[in-house]
Amino acid sequence: MPPRPQAFTNLAEEKSRKSPKPSNSPSKGRNVSQQPGQLTFVAPRRAKPARHLADLSMADRRAAVTELGEKAFRADQLSRHYFERHTADVGAMTDLPAAAREKLSALLPTLLTPVKELTTDGGTTRKTLWRLFDGALVESVLMRYPDRVTMCVSSQAGCGMNCPFCATGQAGLTRNMSTAEIVEQVVSGARALAAGEVPGGPGRVSNIVFMGMGEPLANYKQVIGAVRRIVEPAPHGLGISARGVTVSTVGLVPAIGKLADEGLPVTLALSLHAPDDELRDTLVPINTRWKVAEVLDAAWSYAARTKRRISIEYALIKDINDQEWRADLLGKLVRNKLVHVNLIPLNPTPGSKWTASRPEDERAFVRRLEFHGVPVTVRDTRGREIDGACGQLAAAE
Ligand code: SF4
Repeated sequence: MPPRPQAFTNLAEEKSRKSPKPSNSPSKGRNVSQQPGQLTFVAPRRAKPARHLADLSMADRRAAVTELGEKAFRADQLSRHYFERHTADVGAMTDLPAAAREKLSALLPTLLTPVKELTTDGGTTRKTLWRLFDGALVESVLMRYPDRVTMCVSSQAGCGMNCPFCATGQAGLTRNMSTAEIVEQVVSGARALAAGEVPGGPGRVSNIVFMGMGEPLANYKQVIGAVRRIVEPAPHGLGISARGVTVSTVGLVPAIGKLADEGLPVTLALSLHAPDDELRDTLVPINTRWKVAEVLDAAWSYAARTKRRISIEYALIKDINDQEWRADLLGKLVRNKLVHVNLIPLNPTPGSKWTASRPEDERAFVRRLEFHGVPVTVRDTRGREIDGACGQLAAAE
């Protein structure tokens, strides 16, 4: 057994005292902070957001338009306005008769209301806190780089996966987001870019990462609907390449298999954060259901079926998971696989006892992975000064 630093020993002891219990019980009404280690898979029952064009396939949109008393082809027109021009204001859709515009506005309800917007990096990183129709809060981030624009979107209000280092996890799960609520985050970014509101001139969203609030695979159906809307060509959807879409997960093994069945070549990002079950049981409580070996097997199957490289996400936490022996263990687990390791210096949540690794430990971790021939990068820490880690803005409201 490799030597354990004091902090890890304390964490393990804390875990054994509190004996985490996975639970399927939905909390009633509002989200409730979870006990350490408790998992919430079933979202609390709440009123659903209004039906929106982006919730529907083109066939369903045509049916919905017909129900409103309009010809089916109006669905195509409406879809072009929304997915190509990013317009949700029917008043601006001058190719539609005035009477039709009024009726069709029922398919474009306002789903997201901006509460706060923070920018950094000269305006090229924009984080938005949104209020949903029922008061739930979610966040999205737009990051413009010289060669791409990435949007990080939320898939749930809150999260039931309870990772103890994460602000969102500490607040528990409020509810699942609808497909259209997820898509709207992307459309809002696309609209701001097209209008030249982001420094660098008019542009387009090229990459989407499901790494905001929530565990995407715990809201499977709505997330897959959103991925389809994102990748389908206009007027069906936004026409963003599936290769630019990354779906992250803490390791819901059955859902990883289902995702591979979808035939969507999106990148799977696996938030591993520890290579050994003992630590991962505590850092990523879903590990009490599916162990490191199972989740990695699911990831390798995903890579084999989709031919997409797995992104292993690993938040480096000082004296907790950043030891060289853990880098060696990780290296042995993932070497010779279709994989890339993405190390993320932890963005500490306020009041947290955990913080980012020392630079020398981070460098040593990278060197050990490189020794095993594993491709590795350290993620840039954009948005750090604007409470960039997911859940921090919402927690402050
Ligand atoms: S790290 Fe991700 S999966 Fe874990 S609690 Fe936070 S949002 Fe949920």
